[in-house]
Amino acid sequence: MLKGKSAIVTGSTSGIGLGIARALVAQGANVMLNGFGDAAAISALQAELGKGGAKIAYSGADMTKPEQVAGLVAETARELGSVDILVNNAGMQHVAPVEAFPLEMWDKVIQLNLTSCFQAIRAALPEMKKRNWGRIVNIASAHGLVASAEKSAYVAAKHGLIGLTKVVALETAKSGITANAICPGWVLTPLVQKQIDALAARKGISGEAAKIELLAEKQPSHEFATPEQIGGLTAFLCSPAADQIRGASLSVDGGWTAQ
Ligand code: NAD
Repeated sequence: MLKGKSAIVTGSTSGIGLGIARALVAQGANVMLNGFGDAAAISALQAELGKGGAKIAYSGADMTKPEQVAGLVAETARELGSVDILVNNAGMQHVAPVEAFPLEMWDKVIQLNLTSCFQAIRAALPEMKKRNWGRIVNIASAHGLVASAEKSAYVAAKHGLIGLTKVVALETAKSGITANAICPGWVLTPLVQKQIDALAARKGISGEAAKIELLAEKQPSHEFATPEQIGGLTAFLCSPAADQIRGASLSVDGGWTAQ
C-alpha cells in the first residue's frame, strides 16, 4: 500500500515510534528512524526492518534542537528521495506540581512535544504540496484531551499539538495532504515504565501492583494499549480509506476519555 513512499518517524528507536515504524515498513514504506540509543542496537534494528527490501535510514537528530529538526527533514529527502509521511512521535514527560515545575523542564517538554512538531511540519509541507500527497500524523495523548495533575507542560504541549493538527488540516484541506492526531492512553513503554517505577517507590508497592493501580485510575479497560495498535492506526491513516479524515483526534485509550 505504501510502496515508494518515504516516512519520518521521530523517536522511533523504542516504544510507540518503533511500533509505528514497523507498521509502515509492513505496508512497504521506506523509513527514516530517529531517536537515541545504542549504535549497535540501532544498526541491528535497521537491518531487521530492511529485510523485506525497504530502505531504512537513521538520524540521531535531537528534536529539542530546532536546527536539527529541519535538518532531519532535509536529510530524509536526500537519503530516501522524499518525505511523504511525517509522524511526529518523539516526546517526553516531566512530573511535578506547577509551583515546583522547573522552567527549563517546561521549555524542554514544550520544545520536544510541540514546537519540534511545528518545525518538522513546516519543513516537510512544501515538498508534500508539490506532490499533492502527504500524511502528517501527530502522536498526541489522552492528555491532549483531558488533564492530570502534575503534568502541566505535557498536558499543555499535547493540547497544543491537537490545535496545531487542526490548523494544518484546514490549511491543507483542498489538497491530498491530511493531518491527524492519535491520542493514546497508557501504553507500556520506557516512558510509562518510569512512572510505574516512581509510583511503586512512592507507595512501597511492587511493580506489578503499581501497573494495576496506574491502569485502574484512568483506563477503564484495565489493559495497556500497544505500540502495534498505534502503528496499525497510523498505517490506516496513510491509506486511501482515510483520505477524508482530516484534523481528527483519534483515541486509543481503553475508554480513558469516554468517562
Ligand atoms: P519512549 O520513551 O518509549 O520513546 C521515546 C522515543 O523518543 C525514543 O525513541 C527516544 O530515543 C526518542 N527521543 C527522546 N528524546 C528525543 C529527542 N530529544 N530527540 C529525538 N528523539 C528523542 O516513549 P513512548 O511512550 O513510546 O512515547 C512516544 C510518544 O507517545 C510521545 O510523544 C508520548 O508523549 C506519546 N504517548 C505515550 C503514551 C504512553 O503511555 N507510553 C501515552 C500517550 C502518548
